[in-house]
Amino acid sequence: MLSVHTSPLAQPGMGDAGGMNVYVLQTALQLARRGTEVEIFTRATSSNVPPVQEAGPGVLVRNVVAGPFEGLDKHDLPTQLCPFTAEVLRQEARHQPGHYDLVHSHYWLSGQVGWLARDRWRVPLVFTAHTLAAVKNAALAEGDCPEPATREIGEKQVIAEADRMVANTAEEARQLVELYGADAERIDVVPPGADLARYRPGDKAAARVELGLAAGEQIVAFVGRIQPLKAPDVLVRAAAELLRTDPARNLRVLIVGGPSGTGLERPDALIELAAELGITDRVTFLPPQPPDRLVQVYRAADLVAVPSYNESFGLVAIEAQATGTPVLAADVGGLGTAVRHGETGLLVAGHRTPDWAAALGTLLDEPRRLRAMRDRAVEHAANFSWEHTADGLLASYAAALSDFGAVEPGGVQPTVLDGPLGTERTNLSGAALLGEGGQARSRALWRRRMGVHR
Ligand code: UDP
Repeated sequence: MLSVHTSPLAQPGMGDAGGMNVYVLQTALQLARRGTEVEIFTRATSSNVPPVQEAGPGVLVRNVVAGPFEGLDKHDLPTQLCPFTAEVLRQEARHQPGHYDLVHSHYWLSGQVGWLARDRWRVPLVFTAHTLAAVKNAALAEGDCPEPATREIGEKQVIAEADRMVANTAEEARQLVELYGADAERIDVVPPGADLARYRPGDKAAARVELGLAAGEQIVAFVGRIQPLKAPDVLVRAAAELLRTDPARNLRVLIVGGPSGTGLERPDALIELAAELGITDRVTFLPPQPPDRLVQVYRAADLVAVPSYNESFGLVAIEAQATGTPVLAADVGGLGTAVRHGETGLLVAGHRTPDWAAALGTLLDEPRRLRAMRDRAVEHAANFSWEHTADGLLASYAAALSDFGAVEPGGVQPTVLDGPLGTERTNLSGAALLGEGGQARSRALWRRRMGVHR
């Protein structure tokens, strides 16, 4: 796997670390459990990290030195793709030919690197975009900076080159086709998941004690990277509106996370907003929390708000529901899949303060409805596990390998793994059986490679 701009071992919830980091780590661990060893290449951002780290059984993280450790913004990283790629290729060259069976690139920067690796190693390239510039730019918060045009160009190139693409939802698959001209035949929809063993219902009172929160308050939490796209200000404004009409309301907003992206330009913007609205004493800020503390945040909250302008999925929404906490979310992107409107939470159209205040008030003032939503939320979240995601990825990899094997001279040879897992790699290369759909796909792939237009 390639994850150029952010490490799967970084603490998510600030800077460039968020859902993609969790996704890469969790899927890698699940794939390894099924006998598919994973090596993840990421750019080293500190001199303290060793060149190789073990993230779990069968999962290595390779910290590639490419450019200075600190001070490089994500937007500067296209300048470092050459040294990064060179190091990835050198690493592979230390092994016998055929060391890797497949490359899975996460985010477009990794897609650019994976494209070259695919051509050199003659193995298929699978690409997951995680977010898309064209989608983000179509739904910007007021005054927020658009993604550069160069990113959209880079994404288009990778989408044209990838042997298969993985989309989180059917809507993302449609966006890949409509906005980027992707070949629908090469897209697999694989929903992400949550660590259901960790995120499960628990004792709310104990969670509040652990976090130092009052027992009798109504608590609404926001969890994630603090930036205009994630719109925590929408929640703060809605809370202020509720408190304006009912100052006696025992309401607390809990914000968990740190500045990220364009939010780094004004890291105190949310604190200033709360002060401006006169609700400083009703807002609690916590820095990014590791998973064993985050589960207590979800349990402590009566409601989790996800007011984003765009979300390709929204892992926080699933994690919160898995603990039995209903979610109030913006009706955008993958959140329509992650939350069942009226059953496990509410979806709000737009970002207007009166609409958000009304939805917040409705749920908080109907404890019976909120309780009913708790059980449904746990049931709904149970559909999203990383095990399930790994099954989907393996199916996608199998299709990529069989299509690739059918058009590449020599194909992808089945190999036996004699690494620490000692398992045969049949789950990857056993995709030799094409079936009718596979044959059509491989003909299309062959035409594309040969530059044949119909
Ligand atoms: N997260 C975390 N600690 C925090 C805040 C967030 O571990 O303090 C994790 C959270 O568990 C989730 C991810 O960061 O898995 C955020 O993913 P999401 O899809 O909600 O948002 P993204 O960061 O991808 O925009």
